[in-house]
Amino acid sequence: MPDLRSTYPEPDIMLTAGPSVMPPEVLFAGKSRYHYDPAFLELFGQTEAMAAQVMGTSGEVVILQGEAMLGLEAAARSLVSPGMPVLNLVSGIFGQGMSEWLRLFGADVHELRVSYREAVSPAAVEEYLDEHRDTRLVCAVHCETPSATVQDVAAIGRICRERGVLTLVDSVSAAGGMPLKVDESGLDVVVAGPQKCLGAPPGLAPVAVSSRVWDVIDANPAAPHPSSYLSLTAWRDQWHGKGLFPYTPSVTLMGSFHEALRQVLDEGVANRIARTQETARICRAGVKAMGLELWPASEDIAASCVTAVRVPVAYDADVVRGYLRHHYGVMASSGQGALPVIRLAHMGAVTRPDLIAALALLGQALADLGAEIDIGAGPAAVTAAMSAGRPKSLRGAL
Ligand SMILES: *Cc1c(COP(=O)(O)O)cnc(C)c1O
Repeated sequence: MPDLRSTYPEPDIMLTAGPSVMPPEVLFAGKSRYHYDPAFLELFGQTEAMAAQVMGTSGEVVILQGEAMLGLEAAARSLVSPGMPVLNLVSGIFGQGMSEWLRLFGADVHELRVSYREAVSPAAVEEYLDEHRDTRLVCAVHCETPSATVQDVAAIGRICRERGVLTLVDSVSAAGGMPLKVDESGLDVVVAGPQKCLGAPPGLAPVAVSSRVWDVIDANPAAPHPSSYLSLTAWRDQWHGKGLFPYTPSVTLMGSFHEALRQVLDEGVANRIARTQETARICRAGVKAMGLELWPASEDIAASCVTAVRVPVAYDADVVRGYLRHHYGVMASSGQGALPVIRLAHMGAVTRPDLIAALALLGQALADLGAEIDIGAGPAAVTAAMSAGRPKSLRGAL
């Protein structure tokens, strides 16, 4: 068997948009435990409570024991019944995937669709709902990670709540790095992801469920049966109701997620979000200074958890990304086979010095392949943005 370490040396820098870089304490917290050890029961409860705090809800959070896609599928299946009129907002790959699921589950699917460089405006949602008063559910993706765009789910949530329409929001990549206030925005079901901004491993799906939604799920004959892996009510009735797990939870992942959330709350959710927003802002400044283009049509809708850089038309994005990893040790994300972009994430334990090096090396990779790039201008723009507002003499600076 070939030795993986010599074929693929570890990247020196990882700026991937999930799984993201984990702080070492998060990794070490993932030890084995007996799931009915009282210490683990307490850890599980604390993890739910901390996830709720990060998501801005005082309602129930269920942590399904599978990747975030499990939470999204469980949520959609729990809410949708055959023939139900549903509006799905499609501005990227994850929104498109939700449409396919909704059709599979028998919903009467309607879409508001824009190009994958744009976001659906809340005004368009409002207009649609006023014209289609039978709509029962609106599905939205908070941050379309592959295209690094953001949708205004706070405004969309309020519009839907005012009209008695339910909402299902995919906030997998935004939670913990972009503003998310489930209760204040009147959102009903929101799925977060541990492996993006929260800097934990993939494999868990925290789902916030508003109290009014439980009645809808209980009344839905098409919702997953309590014996199904996709059942949300099993967790409510067995774990929240009786302190019993429906099946053995992923104890190692829960340990890591607990530590990751503790770190986020230690920093403060608002501080973490502000730091992520600032990192994204200075990254965009660096990208533009190098003469490269951002993928989102406007910076107003540019996500703060990840930046998508448009690869110049003459180049294949995956070739550039492979070159960057192989020759310069920088692991960046792709456009998921669909978009001509390289993505630099501002998630988990990624630091600004990592970003500076990655930008310079991305510029060098493109230059090696023949593109006209002002390599130094990118890192210079980033360091200048970092320096702004900082003391300019040593006196009193420390
Ligand atoms: C990462 C992510 C998911 C989970 O999808 P995977 O491809 O399995 O990681 C879902 N929605 C969004 C918006 C994401 O960024």
